[in-house]
Amino acid sequence: YTMAEAYVTLATNDGYAIGALVLGHSLRCNHTTKDLCIMITPAVSMAVRSLLDSVYNKVVVVDVLDSGDSAHLALMKRPELGVTFTKLHCWTLTDYSKCVFLDADILCVQNPDDLFTHPELTAVCDVGWPDCFNSGVFVFVPSQDTYGRLLSMAETTGSFDGGDQGLLNSAFPNWHRVSFVYNMVASATYTYLPAYKQYGANAKLIHFLGAMKPWQHRYDVGSGSVSTAPGYTHLAPYLNSWWAIYQRLVQPGVP
Ligand code: UDP
Ligand code: MN
Repeated sequence: YTMAEAYVTLATNDGYAIGALVLGHSLRCNHTTKDLCIMITPAVSMAVRSLLDSVYNKVVVVDVLDSGDSAHLALMKRPELGVTFTKLHCWTLTDYSKCVFLDADILCVQNPDDLFTHPELTAVCDVGWPDCFNSGVFVFVPSQDTYGRLLSMAETTGSFDGGDQGLLNSAFPNWHRVSFVYNMVASATYTYLPAYKQYGANAKLIHFLGAMKPWQHRYDVGSGSVSTAPGYTHLAPYLNSWWAIYQRLVQPGVP
């Protein structure tokens, strides 16, 4: 018997849970051989949870305030780290031998399963400060010891950006870098168009990083395409791919 490996994501509300549904279906469409696991908080509605049950192997309800003594203590000192703590919970999923965390605002366009051949902590450079990794995609090994170490770091030194990315970069300074195609930030591709034209077809995971998420754009059923918000027109091909999966596989189940 060998322990399973899994993709893990997080949703604290129905909006991100819709993103997670599209993410899960997009991984299945690309024939992943890994389990799919999602951590949700009680704010996710029952209707959306039953949809999650149909695509995720495991739906784990986590509640930041009930997440054990050490987490609770650390939280009382640093209440702004609420969502961050929820993400750190992925290290407690010790039923899995290795995992890849994926933000819920990611779309899979080619099979990324070879990520699992890399060690903890493997990730992609952040486009804002490439010495740091972006915490939207990372390979990790669940471990209560590591979880404890991360919580005590959060409590003592905190996070230099107030979120999980700052904390995780401080915790894993010797991280391993993999190609940008494993966390292609859609909005960044246009800062270097020739490279995008050369390599863009290799993209495996598209990350809709930033304020406006795919589910917040308006989709026109008549034309079958997204009416992108101003400033987002260059993202139309990816937004259309996201919405195509939403329309075909998620929307029919939404009550
Ligand atoms: N997240 C969540 N609820 C929130 C904010 C974030 O569940 O209110 C989770 C979700 O998985 C999301 C991830 O945390 O993808 C990171 O947040 P986000 O993707 O919004 O950050 P960005 O990638 O834009 O920096
Ligand atoms: Mn994200």
